[in-house]
Amino acid sequence: MEHDVQKEAINTWVNKNELEKALSIGIHRAPEFKHEEKKHYLGEFRERVIRLLTKKQVMEPAIYPEIAEALKDRRAVKMIINGDIDYRFVKKYVKLAQKMGKTSTVIHDPGFKGETGLIVAGDGAVDVQNIDVPDRETRLKKLGVSPALIHSAGKKVCERCYKKIIHADPGEAINYQLLTLADRFWGERCSAC
Ligand SMILES: [Zn+2]
Repeated sequence: MEHDVQKEAINTWVNKNELEKALSIGIHRAPEFKHEEKKHYLGEFRERVIRLLTKKQVMEPAIYPEIAEALKDRRAVKMIINGDIDYRFVKKYVKLAQKMGKTSTVIHDPGFKGETGLIVAGDGAVDVQNIDVPDRETRLKKLGVSPALIHSAGKKVCERCYKKIIHADPGEAINYQLLTLADRFWGERCSAC
């Protein structure tokens, strides 16, 4: 009888030990996993990300209208940009965030992993499922916009071209300027025609 009690005690001890071991692994693994995850999202938790651009997308001359949209989101509090990217490509997004009253930070961290170039994030979990932004050129081509007009982002275009791009995507207004009469007088031409 005494023997059984002892055996039971040993069993309990073993079980308790196993449970504690499992618990401590669980407890320690979660932050470890989260820490790894953050390296892919410029130091943020994935659950906080509203929109994400790759480095390549940030380096395009055009501003992605999806980022302007994301900054309008009430939950959006900040924009973080990968410091790997040359500042001349980053500037347009810093200005955009400023215009929309959101903070932007450029972070240099050799520990960052993957191709993330820019994120718009909230202070808490937003749980946006699809944070990736489709390639601008592919998307606009599908909408019937000519390559010349797609590549005229940041430049001045004639009224006909301006209407064409705005009709395809009103969000693209941030990327185009209308040629004025004075521009025409001084010999400037539509860069898409
Ligand atoms: Zn034109």
